[in-house]
Amino acid sequence: MRQKVVAGNWKMNNTLGETKKLLKSLKKELKGLKLVDTRVIIAPSFVNLQHTVKKTENSIIEVSAQNLHQATNGAFTGEISVDMLLDIGVNTVILGHSERRAYFNETDEALAQKVNTAIGSGLDVIFCFGEQLEDRQNEKHFEIVESQLKEALFALSSEAYKNIILAYEPVWAIGTGQTATADQAQEMHKFIRSILAKNYDEKLANSVSILYGGSVKPNNAEEIFSKPDVDGGLIGGASLKAKDFSAIVKSI
Ligand code: PEP
Repeated sequence: MRQKVVAGNWKMNNTLGETKKLLKSLKKELKGLKLVDTRVIIAPSFVNLQHTVKKTENSIIEVSAQNLHQATNGAFTGEISVDMLLDIGVNTVILGHSERRAYFNETDEALAQKVNTAIGSGLDVIFCFGEQLEDRQNEKHFEIVESQLKEALFALSSEAYKNIILAYEPVWAIGTGQTATADQAQEMHKFIRSILAKNYDEKLANSVSILYGGSVKPNNAEEIFSKPDVDGGLIGGASLKAKDFSAIVKSI
């Protein structure tokens, strides 16, 4: 049975005060919710991680970072290491988000190193990838996705996939309000499973959770999550509102 996951990427939003408020509302909205084989994860900014870990200790909410550096320590001004995250109780990290790739020039090569560093230290990785609009228009979306996965992940051992959650995020659907249809998501997720089976085996392909991300909202989550190869969602904008995020969690 694959695990289902709903993860909220808060990006560069929420001061400490706003984080406290949102956490309080979120805990209230999710109180008493019984989930089977489902993880609920939120990813606040680095400076608010420690507070969030503390405040979510006795709840169903887990805490993820939005990035880390590939080196374990050293002269990398402004960066955050895997040990710093583990030390404050963070068990997951988002890597490969399209904003990191586009605005911070994160390459497949750097991402492969980051994934290795994270997995090597026992952190779970939510690995994001997805095509640009023009890739889809030129019918190159399958090729692009296969290449992103191959370059960053396919040197990993099968064992490493116990710590990997994939997040297919077509870039044209992120923050645009233009969601991929549930059928488009299913088609890509099925393709992803087929390339995992080709590079590893069927068992592994069927065991990896694959999330869809891109303008998931309370009004479309249920349909997207109903697809057989969609195991949940990575949520941006809607994760900043307790009612919306918890409604999405309840649609899983
Ligand atoms: C994201 O940034 O990962 C994302 C899916 O954002 P949104 O839900 O706002 O499209």
